[in-house]
Amino acid sequence: MKKHVPKIILLITLVLLITAYIGLSIVAANIDKKMNAISNGDIRITDRARKLHESLLIVDLHCDSLLWDRDLLERNSRGHVDVPRLKDGNVALQAFTIVSSVPKRSGALEGIDQITLLSLVEHWTPDAWFSLKERVLYQAKKLDEVAARSKGEFVIIKNTEELDEYLQRRARNRTLTAGFLGVEGAHALEGDINNIDVFFDHGIRMMSPSHFFDNDIGGSSHGEKRGGLSDLGKEMIRRMQAKSMLVDLAHASSKTIKDALAISTKPVVVSHTGVKGTHKSDRNLSDAEIIDIAKTGGVIGIGYWQEAIGGRNPADIARAIRYTSNLVGVDHVALGSDFDGACAAPFDVAHLVAVTQALINQGFSDQEIRLIMGENTLRVLRLSLPSGPDIFNNSKSVDLAN
Ligand SMILES: [Zn+2]
Repeated sequence: MKKHVPKIILLITLVLLITAYIGLSIVAANIDKKMNAISNGDIRITDRARKLHESLLIVDLHCDSLLWDRDLLERNSRGHVDVPRLKDGNVALQAFTIVSSVPKRSGALEGIDQITLLSLVEHWTPDAWFSLKERVLYQAKKLDEVAARSKGEFVIIKNTEELDEYLQRRARNRTLTAGFLGVEGAHALEGDINNIDVFFDHGIRMMSPSHFFDNDIGGSSHGEKRGGLSDLGKEMIRRMQAKSMLVDLAHASSKTIKDALAISTKPVVVSHTGVKGTHKSDRNLSDAEIIDIAKTGGVIGIGYWQEAIGGRNPADIARAIRYTSNLVGVDHVALGSDFDGACAAPFDVAHLVAVTQALINQGFSDQEIRLIMGENTLRVLRLSLPSGPDIFNNSKSVDLAN
């Protein structure tokens, strides 16, 4: 005989599930609000800065906005980045970098991974609860959906042909905005170098060897051993560059930076960092590292958070940019905000004119500001991205023996 569950029990279970879902959403929103605060860095904006800012082509190398439970097409009251605020800030191209694992204690892989907790609280698909690779694909798809729902107002750039076509459209319509995808930490490959192909096919165009801990690819500047690139790591650099993916050395240990530069054949970036010259920290780049990265033709993206720049004001960002520019020339410095990277920023992306103002205050010329705010990174992307859909479609036939 079939046993029926009483209707009242089903109803109570349903109410409890809905309450738990809403409760977790509120928890997720509070975590986002608390971790991605705005510290209100102080600066007075002049008409000259506003006018110059509106004429710039702005590119930023790093934000972690895909981590949070927000509709990026809506204007949000929390965090730093969404499509409406990218438009307000006149950003032409924003890197969306994907985080797959953050240990409880920086440097050591112990305790529960904070991204596991976030994936549960934010109702990610079950595939992404325990697989780092699936977390990357989940977040990449999230940005795909944003682009699909935007009716052409937000596009994802995957090759130079798309980049040029988009920039032509944007020259006629300044309200358009775009993104490209990156991955923070190659532990997301789960030890299988062939997952580079999978990531590439899902639109990923930039990746760093390590993040907050030493992994099987290379050492982290936060790690316990802080070693160099493993054989797998060396293969990763070669394979990424053969496929026209941009190598990002943010968070890498000094040894890993050295090893990667020794075998790199293309411009390399550090997507978000500070420099030891203005703020001493293990995470920040030394003068020698800045010089070596500039020699590849790459750029150094200066971040906006206190531990990178030693302060909470736009002037501190401009100070790090000035230092780097004095050391290696204005062609090798760029923006790498780390917006929505679980750290407070002096302003959200809508108020990016604060950086233009701070650079004017630092004595940079209009042309130098154009380079720093985006054109340097654009130069690197043109040299680094695949040249068009043909290469994109033939991505699996790259011959590594050559
Ligand atoms: Zn980071």
